[in-house]
Amino acid sequence: RQAAYAELRDVEPFTRCGTRITVMMNAGLRDDMSTLPLSGADGVGLFRTEFQFLVSSTLPQRERQTRLYRDVLDAAGDKPVIFRTVDIGGDKAVPYLNSAIAERDENPALGWRALRLALEREGLLKSQARALLEAAAGRTLNVMFPMVSEPWEFDDARAVFEGQLEYLRGRRKLVPEVINYGCMLEVPALAEVMEQMVERASFISVGTNDLTQFLFAADRANPKLAERYDWLSPAILRFLARVSQGVVGHKVDLAVCGEMGGRRLEALALLGIGYRRLSITPAAVGPIKELVRKVDLEEITTQMTEWLLRPPPNMRAALQGWAAEREI
Ligand code: PEP
Ligand code: MG
Repeated sequence: RQAAYAELRDVEPFTRCGTRITVMMNAGLRDDMSTLPLSGADGVGLFRTEFQFLVSSTLPQRERQTRLYRDVLDAAGDKPVIFRTVDIGGDKAVPYLNSAIAERDENPALGWRALRLALEREGLLKSQARALLEAAAGRTLNVMFPMVSEPWEFDDARAVFEGQLEYLRGRRKLVPEVINYGCMLEVPALAEVMEQMVERASFISVGTNDLTQFLFAADRANPKLAERYDWLSPAILRFLARVSQGVVGHKVDLAVCGEMGGRRLEALALLGIGYRRLSITPAAVGPIKELVRKVDLEEITTQMTEWLLRPPPNMRAALQGWAAEREI
């Protein structure tokens, strides 16, 4: 099968009905970039910049950050990369930044983390913004903010980037040709103000790992809760379907970048509720491209619409049966 996926590397993932699906990969290390050409992914839909912060015992110097981001862009060549600003705090504790706070955080996943932390530690976000702007000088910069819960957080984070951009321009430095700002949708509250986000963001990427834990109030890292929710549950699928309906008619790219998108039946369901962009673990790119090529979008959309109105007793079994009948 590996050989079959290798053959698919340069094959573009068009559905049976001829729609191009964007299949990107998630990354977080310089070394991950070697899998970009090997996997045949369309780009990096989520680059988790916090890895550099997590493996360091001190706050990474701006020059080190710039070097990493530049290397990543060089390795990606013509393919796009979406850099997510640091998502530290919560379960990704960094001793040099938030130990005192983390001790006080009774619910770290709901606590002082990600953009919440970055907006307060403005020096940290400023230095990351500058590093990203410098690394992408003369190219396109795609930057994404994690854990946005309300539109103002997106505005404030963007303003930090714009401030750094002005600073660089003032010094006659080369800046990115294009900057696209986007956000993660992983806090359910943000979905309730989608109409405000579609006006602001160039792209929105649904982080189903966190979104699921928040929707079900079930810690994603607790193995005792692992059986308590299913990505194919009607609750999640209906939620995701509403999100995808919310971007119809707007110039915003909607993607899923959680682990869900890398699984066969889950990806099938996502296609059926309007998602056309996935960013997934590199190993899943081949299998998902293969799946995409067998799917007729109209057929799965009709089926999912029906199933979301009247959920079958077991959505997983229903999808499995549907796929098997079509030799998908
Ligand atoms: C997510 O929450 O789905 C996500 C992609 O981000 P992370 O797994 O890094 O929290
Ligand atoms: Mg997340």
